[in-house]
Amino acid sequence: MFGMIEGTGFEVIEPEFQDCLIGHARVERLWTGARWSEGPAWFAAGRYLVWSDIPNNRMMRFDETDGSVSVFRNPANNTNGHTVDRQGRLVSCEHLTRRVTRTELDGSLTVIADSYQGKRLNSPNDVVVKSDGSIWFTDPSYGILIDYEGERAESEIGACHVYRVDPSDDISIVAEDYVKPNGLAFSPDESLLYIADTGASHQADGPKHIRRHTVNADNSLSGGEVLATCTNGLFDGFRCDRDGRIWTSAADGVHCLAPDGRLIGKILIPEFVSNVCFGGPRLNRLFICGTTSLYAAFLAVNGVSPV
Ligand code: MG
Repeated sequence: MFGMIEGTGFEVIEPEFQDCLIGHARVERLWTGARWSEGPAWFAAGRYLVWSDIPNNRMMRFDETDGSVSVFRNPANNTNGHTVDRQGRLVSCEHLTRRVTRTELDGSLTVIADSYQGKRLNSPNDVVVKSDGSIWFTDPSYGILIDYEGERAESEIGACHVYRVDPSDDISIVAEDYVKPNGLAFSPDESLLYIADTGASHQADGPKHIRRHTVNADNSLSGGEVLATCTNGLFDGFRCDRDGRIWTSAADGVHCLAPDGRLIGKILIPEFVSNVCFGGPRLNRLFICGTTSLYAAFLAVNGVSPV
């Protein structure tokens, strides 16, 4: 099960990528059986990973201690992206119910956001929590376009924005010039926010890039220049490591971008990759959601600690 998987490997494009790799480490396929894997989130205290199998309307759990995989939640409102906040709580984007929720420590659900100025959100896709407790999420329309990963519906807002929910529960638009805002992640010091636009999924000449915004003292964004354009498929979800590299999904695997946006290497995966996250006790294992399967690779770099 953990031997060399056909179609996997590491591609060094710039010599500096070699420093990210462990010579004998291989890509492992930990599990297969999903339709579209997305939204991995690492629970450090429990040593397990949760992720979404969106079309099957369930969430899965990989237990690092024994390698077992089980159903975490079913039905799951077609959840997509997840993160774990600094209090160890799961924060989830739900397509079917068109909202962002938090699973409290007692298991109950709190709705973080389901509308903006009285209009329902489209289908929240991916979410991050900043150290000040604000919750930032993207709201493209993938969950309401067809019935496969949610339920077909008209967009009430009529556009796809990026939002921030403050600890006071106030919700604001932080970016409104995206076609299909998708993955997002802060730089290690939270001075920058990277946001992917996957507009090319439904528009031939649409965007397929990651943009870089400066996070201002009042949590507004400025800048927004294109950092990198995807050379194979789309950048969907991604995470930063502690040195500021971006590990992002693409059609042929995981692309590693230097902080200046240069593609320095790839982890090759034989299925479309949707999202990644760092896990393990030292956050040096990259978990990779690749369509039907969950993959992982140990690296010589570490993810940004959430606490
Ligand atoms: Mg996504």
